[in-house]
Amino acid sequence: PSRSDITYFGAGPALLPTDVLEEAAGALLNYNATGLGVAEHSHRSALAAGIINQAKADLASCLDIPDDYEILFMQGGGTGQFSTSVYNFAGAWVARKYKEIFGDVQGDPTDHPELLNQLKQAVDDELKIDYLVTGGWSQKASVEGERLLGSKHINIAADARKTNGGKFGIIPDESTWKLSENAALVYFCDNETVDGVEFPTFPKSLEPGPDGKGPIVVADMSSNILTRKIPVRNFSAIFFGAQKNLGMTGITVVVIKKSFLPPTISQPSPTLMRYLGLPVPPIIFQYETAAKNNSLYNTLSIFDVYVAGQVLKKLLRIYPNKVEGQQAVTDKKARLIYDAIEAFPEIYKIIPNKAVRSRMNICFRVTKGDDIDAAEKAFLEEATAQGLTGLKGHRSLGGIRASNYNSVPLEGAEKLATFIRGFATS
Ligand code: PLP
Repeated sequence: PSRSDITYFGAGPALLPTDVLEEAAGALLNYNATGLGVAEHSHRSALAAGIINQAKADLASCLDIPDDYEILFMQGGGTGQFSTSVYNFAGAWVARKYKEIFGDVQGDPTDHPELLNQLKQAVDDELKIDYLVTGGWSQKASVEGERLLGSKHINIAADARKTNGGKFGIIPDESTWKLSENAALVYFCDNETVDGVEFPTFPKSLEPGPDGKGPIVVADMSSNILTRKIPVRNFSAIFFGAQKNLGMTGITVVVIKKSFLPPTISQPSPTLMRYLGLPVPPIIFQYETAAKNNSLYNTLSIFDVYVAGQVLKKLLRIYPNKVEGQQAVTDKKARLIYDAIEAFPEIYKIIPNKAVRSRMNICFRVTKGDDIDAAEKAFLEEATAQGLTGLKGHRSLGGIRASNYNSVPLEGAEKLATFIRGFATS
């Protein structure tokens, strides 16, 4: 088949807009008549800095990111951020505690064994990372947190499986969350790509109070960034790999409140971290390293930033009201697909609970007839024959998963909805 015959619903990486790819193909050979391709220019060139700065400005514009937030391009994917968020926010917690205990005391901390001991005690007793485990990705993040810090520093504030028969598919009621007093961070995954669970709105119990102060919230938005308006100010950091709704695989974006970076907070020295029994982050996984170097501490894939930038430009061109325009289309596409599935309760069963089902990853079973496996196989084969591909569910869960990322056009969602209805009645 050719590209135009296919509507692709794969969970990631996602399709990129064809016009962006066509232009990128030209840019790979000769960028802006420089004779060199965009991937061949030095990452230290003014041209590269221009591409980075423009992409940052356009992302900030799309998502209304305030000036007191920094945008970082990193590597290592969403998975890298499972580790990075732990290193940096645990470090920030220690830096704050240090200030609290040492006050204006200057010099080498080992010259003040009593204060140092007090700090060590505080770390041992109080340093916690809270995880809301609502699906496979937040679970993986919590496992990494525990691997890096040890279980005494990890608090599973909620685990959806506990009240849902051992399975994901719900978000536990906020009244049951057991949040820590002064967590280094509260972590959640805004959209669980595997399980099809999405937070409908920002959690009430994590909202800042009237004084603007609230918990330190870090969210994984790998699979739903740029699909709805987000209250950026409620977050200390948001991260996402580019490969679903922004661009190509290869860069990871971190939006972080500047007050977690120098000059406000610097990561504690490696000697101090070692003394406290805490891990020292690899240099490229320090947010402050990336921030001080405008994401260019080491060689960054400028091509990936360029592609992301072109996608952002396109979004801004199509939707004068920016991400809200995209959100209207996204919601409409999701509704079309869910409506088609829900019209046939005998034939299809949506996996997650209705109140928290994802607009991005629509997970369902085909229960037509006695043999689910055979029904799902037939569903996938017939869909593929019509150019509707990438619909097979995650290997751990089975079933069908239709991923409704930004590159799926409205007509694609309509085509899938029509197919779902047709399959049910055939
Ligand atoms: N978080 C979520 C929600 C994801 O969907 C994924 C990948 O699909 C990841 C994290 C892992 O991202 P990466 O493969 O970029 O490490």
